[in-house]
Amino acid sequence: MKQNEVKKAALIGAEPTAVGEEELRLINGYTRRALTADEVYAFSVVLCDNDVDRDGERFTVESLFTLEKLFVGRTGIFDHDPSAKNQAARIFSCEVESVPGRKTATGDEYFRLKARAYMPKTEDNRAIIEAIDSGIIKEVSVGCAVASNVCSVCGEEYALCKHRKGETYSGVLCCGELRDPIDAYEWSFVAVPAQKEAGVVKSAERKDRTMKGILKKLEDRQSFLLSGGDCEKLSAYIASLKQQAQDGAYYRESLTADVLRLSAAVQPGISRETMESVAKSLTVAQLKEVKTAFEKQKQQAYAPVPQLLGGKTKQNTEAFGQFTI
Ligand SMILES: [Zn+2]
Repeated sequence: MKQNEVKKAALIGAEPTAVGEEELRLINGYTRRALTADEVYAFSVVLCDNDVDRDGERFTVESLFTLEKLFVGRTGIFDHDPSAKNQAARIFSCEVESVPGRKTATGDEYFRLKARAYMPKTEDNRAIIEAIDSGIIKEVSVGCAVASNVCSVCGEEYALCKHRKGETYSGVLCCGELRDPIDAYEWSFVAVPAQKEAGVVKSAERKDRTMKGILKKLEDRQSFLLSGGDCEKLSAYIASLKQQAQDGAYYRESLTADVLRLSAAVQPGISRETMESVAKSLTVAQLKEVKTAFEKQKQQAYAPVPQLLGGKTKQNTEAFGQFTI
């Protein structure tokens, strides 16, 4: 995969403001006929910021400035309601702004990308405008694509490194940094708050249906049938399975990262994307086999280098140090 698709919730500003002359000029750049200030409804949306979000990710300030250009002209739709297809708002201006005094979770100055969007005040749009005005519609969902999602601790692609979002390493909070935005997509108005609440309740219920919840119930039920000793054994067995699964996932990730790194060195003709999809289809044992083979290849390819290059740079020594004799 060459790009990461990113979908985030964005907040509509509480204060729909009147449209000034400059804004009207921008809006009329998108309309078939020139509209008057009375004919348009404008509102603000905070599209994204540089703070760490619920997914443990954040946009860099540079990304915000790129998105500032990409989002202008994008339309916002009501995608869950096909009958509202023609009801769309459009972003006519976008600006990165700082919020003095506010810091991000990583301790940086806080910046956010604020968009201004408009809708013609038509009969079709009346209900939506009222919903925004009254605060029923507060959230929109925005989508974009970024070239990389990089670990804030080590600078590698987050999917391939060993750090975990939310953990702190030598004082640095690990998060996924969304860098180099490529495209901004349509945005859409999402559920009213009441539905959002319902969604929360639903996901809380679903928690019980996870494997963990089922195992817990099984443990509880077994306690009536089994002796105390058996029950303890079962609990211990489940705990060990959980640990094994965790270790296995971690081992697999670390093996995959090694294989991708080695592949870049010994098989530069094979793209990272291809290697990633190959790695996904392999079992852990097969990954191990590939890693060993690549290591051998690399060893052969680089072993003579230290003898030929007496005054190598430190970087080279580090990169291939483990293979030098
Ligand atoms: Zn990392």
